[in-house]
Amino acid sequence: EPHGPIYGRVLVKVSGEALMGNEAFGLHWPTIEHIAEDLVEARGAGAEIAVVVGGGNILRGASVAGQGLDRATADHMGMLATVMNALALEKAVEKAGVPARTLSAIPMPTICEPYARQTASRHLSRGRIVLLAGGTGNPYFTTDTGAVLRAAELECDAVMKATNVDGVYTADPKHDPSARRYERLTHDEALAKDLKVMDAAAFALAREAKLPIVVFSIREPGAIAAAIRGEGRSTTVAP
Ligand code: UDP
Repeated sequence: EPHGPIYGRVLVKVSGEALMGNEAFGLHWPTIEHIAEDLVEARGAGAEIAVVVGGGNILRGASVAGQGLDRATADHMGMLATVMNALALEKAVEKAGVPARTLSAIPMPTICEPYARQTASRHLSRGRIVLLAGGTGNPYFTTDTGAVLRAAELECDAVMKATNVDGVYTADPKHDPSARRYERLTHDEALAKDLKVMDAAAFALAREAKLPIVVFSIREPGAIAAAIRGEGRSTTVAP
């Protein structure tokens, strides 16, 4: 008997890389459909769901900046990549049976709605899955920071960070077989132990806002819905 969500409103961070499956670049449709179905299942269990989508499967500003391209312009391009990903996920969510809206931090009203806190909150309370594109809308930030920022301002109960690893470990599990996964950590402990949960700016904001971060692997089918139910392997970073 599956139980309901332990979080009422969540912010799910889906990296761009999660959308490319085992490909080296771009969008892998079967993978996107699985993620969309997972989000829809979580919605069906009663959670309000906002999603911040990354862009690393298409372009990362820091990687392409240099030579003729300055960092701010490269980051603008990276933010545009996140809009493409959000639109793809929006269509996949709607195909899976739940209304979805993309809201962009960079206004482009002929393509999607511009992000405003009130708009996002209204869509969420009406049961729509909200795809938040464009990160923070500013260069030199990441979509992890965008995820924490939106989670804080939309009063989400947690940031669900979907990654390739099923939590935060004492050491890198790929290189150290004795590495152990933490079940629970405080923000202060993660900081003191120098554990990389998110980039420094994102983590500092989560700590300041006392916002829980749940780290889990997106590789398991149904992982997002399970994490929102408080099931499956994960690490929770919370005060
Ligand atoms: N980006 C940005 N400001 C933001 C969020 C993202 O400039 O607030 C740019 C930045 O260039 C980044 C790219 O968008 O490299 C894609 O985002 P990110 O690297 O966070 O994607 P992910 O790693 O989650 O796929």
